Amino acid sequence: MNKYDLHSHTVFSDGSLSAVALIDLAIERGVTHLAITDHDTVAAHLQLAQNKDCYDGDKICIIKGVEFSAQWNNMGVHIVGLNIDVNSPVIETAVAHQTQLRVQRVKTIAKKLMQRGFPDITEGAMKLAGDGQVGRPHIAQHMVDEGLVPSMAQAFNKYLGAGKVGDISSVWPDLEQVVEWIKVAGGVAVLAHPSRYKMTRTKRRRLMADYSDAGGQAIEVCAGNQVPGVAEEMAAICEEFDFHASVGSDFHNPDYQWVRLGQYPKLPKACRPVWELF
Ligand code: AMP
Ligand code: MN
Ligand code: MN
Ligand code: MN
Repeated sequence: MNKYDLHSHTVFSDGSLSAVALIDLAIERGVTHLAITDHDTVAAHLQLAQNKDCYDGDKICIIKGVEFSAQWNNMGVHIVGLNIDVNSPVIETAVAHQTQLRVQRVKTIAKKLMQRGFPDITEGAMKLAGDGQVGRPHIAQHMVDEGLVPSMAQAFNKYLGAGKVGDISSVWPDLEQVVEWIKVAGGVAVLAHPSRYKMTRTKRRRLMADYSDAGGQAIEVCAGNQVPGVAEEMAAICEEFDFHASVGSDFHNPDYQWVRLGQYPKLPKACRPVWELF
């Protein structure tokens, strides 16, 4: 089992566990360094700070993080910020900005779906998100609950996934903006799950070059549910662009058997781990 897991979610974005339950599970699984990186929010960290006694700090080190939504070439990409100051004004501004975009985006997606004959999903999705950031998984869940689609997978495959009618990425800030937020907050920027963006190798190299030019410092070399060979491919990219390497499961839900906390392929030896920069 891996001791570092630098990418995970709670109920404050689209994860199923509370921050405390996530930490308990991490300790149970032998994770010693856990970054909580919810989509466009640091609410889990603010909540933990209010309840300092809710986990054993000798057993686990919690790294303060976030996963910001960004756009590149009209495509949605994710940039994880690690070891950020969650109380810094820049994070407060960034989170407020992203929150507003997310609420507006749900309304836009709802309109697009209504043009396809669906009822308005805005309220249902917002309700499911509760105190957390609303996102496509809430829309998908609401569509399942209402019997509008048979499964979450179908909701994404037909309506919400990459390139579909409900995939609206043009709202997000560009790479420079997001990397700047993270750096000003004292953190390290990590391009999340690079192999998950559907693009040719040539296009991926352009993304890496642009990310590097934007000040990006690291990429996720090892992610959950990653096929063999990808880590080595990402390690080569690290060498070419002088990136540090991050590792993380991208854990959302204990019911998802294919992504378990602390589980991801071995980090290639040549990589410089991102925590050297903390
Ligand atoms: P959003 O932040 O609203 O753009 O939603 C993105 C999130 O939706 C990702 O972080 C995943 O958790 C989830 N997601 C994306 N694609 C799929 C898919 N095809 N099936 C299930 N969940 C997905
Ligand atoms: Mn997610
Ligand atoms: Mn992501
Ligand atoms: Mn994630």
